[in-house]
Amino acid sequence: MAVKKVLKYGEKTLREKSKEVHKVSRKITDLVQDLLDTMYAKNGVGLAAPQIGTNLRVFVIDVSTNEEPLNPLVFINPKIIKKSGAIVSEEGCLSFPEAYTKVKRYKNVMVKALDIHGRSFVTEAKDGSLLARAIQHENDHLDGILFVDHCANRFETEQILEKYNLPPLETDKLLEEPELEKNLDDN
Ligand code: ZN
Repeated sequence: MAVKKVLKYGEKTLREKSKEVHKVSRKITDLVQDLLDTMYAKNGVGLAAPQIGTNLRVFVIDVSTNEEPLNPLVFINPKIIKKSGAIVSEEGCLSFPEAYTKVKRYKNVMVKALDIHGRSFVTEAKDGSLLARAIQHENDHLDGILFVDHCANRFETEQILEKYNLPPLETDKLLEEPELEKNLDDN
């Protein structure tokens, strides 16, 4: 397959809601291969289909480090079925080259999805691990939500976007997350 162009913040496709996959057909397995090829080529930890211009509910993640063998994870029609705790940590996104900012996330998530063979699986990621955060980040892309919408410090994020010549924060997209805020206070 091929390394695709990654859409940058400001492109309308990134804000659209993606459609469910009805059948894990050849078209979908090709899409998954493009996502993996592109993610590895750009040294990303995750990549969602809308980022390469396809509004379908598919994303890939690989949180293995340099010393470890590749461990591609494929999520088709994912649903986060459990979430708890809260953590603030720095994130980036291939659609926001070089820009990193602190965002609010759940610490623990349980996700149900289909794998590349169309089989249902459930996976759990805990303790604010890279995997836990990546699942939430990539899953958001399928609903047109971007990591900056979860930013912990609006003014700092504004400055970072400006520094890297990215469009300003879309303040109407900023998320109100009372449950997350409450969990952060309880920490
Ligand atoms: Zn992203």
